[in-house]
Amino acid sequence: MTSRRKLVVGNWKMHGSHKANAELLEGVLAARPFGADVAVCVPFPFLSETAVTLAASDIRWGAQDCSAHEQGAYTGEVSAAMLREFGCRWVIVGHSERRAYHGESDQLVADKAKIALAHGITPIVCVGETLAQREAGETAAVVKRQLSAVIHTLGHCVSEMVVAYEPVWAIGTGKTATPEQAQEVHALLRAQLLAATPRAGEMRLLYGGSVKADNAATLFAQPDIDGGLIGGAALKAADFAAICRAA
Ligand code: PEP
Repeated sequence: MTSRRKLVVGNWKMHGSHKANAELLEGVLAARPFGADVAVCVPFPFLSETAVTLAASDIRWGAQDCSAHEQGAYTGEVSAAMLREFGCRWVIVGHSERRAYHGESDQLVADKAKIALAHGITPIVCVGETLAQREAGETAAVVKRQLSAVIHTLGHCVSEMVVAYEPVWAIGTGKTATPEQAQEVHALLRAQLLAATPRAGEMRLLYGGSVKADNAATLFAQPDIDGGLIGGAALKAADFAAICRAA
């Protein structure tokens, strides 16, 4: 038996508007209570209104990226200290879309995780293989390499992060990893973390990649899957609430 409390995080990506956000958040709030920890990671411009809407609730909020720098001449970047001022508890780092479209390296992702923790924000570190890597039998090596950079950079703080396993081929494609495929990778990640920290058993490992209301429960029932990082389904209150209830 595990004492890990399930965690469900919505990743809104670059979606939303004042009107749509208000409806979505009101819908999610109305669907409570949930038996899991729940958060939404929203675009930067919506942090303020999200904070106001959720402040009195048990739903937390966060961002989808942060700078690896403390402050300075980094046009377009947003620092962890700024996120903290907006009450962020969470920040996603190393999402595959950032690795692919912005060339983020394993070390940059690790540096972002480190600076987030330094500002009291829990990084959700994403790892995952592409379809070509899976078909080449490289899944274990890829996620191990990605996680290894973060383990070395965080040192004794490693147990404070959350890891999200998100197979790239499952993100936004409707192709979910089977519970067995996901569990297999989660077990590998847990073993790697165990070699780094005695607290690995307390760490939450999320699965992400086309999680829906109808597949969430079986995924979350796996022994090393402690919740989900939810993209598309987090944009509809009823779907997101159903996933939160499944956790
Ligand atoms: C994601 O982008 O983190 C994600 C899991 O997306 P989706 O649920 O849409 O596959």
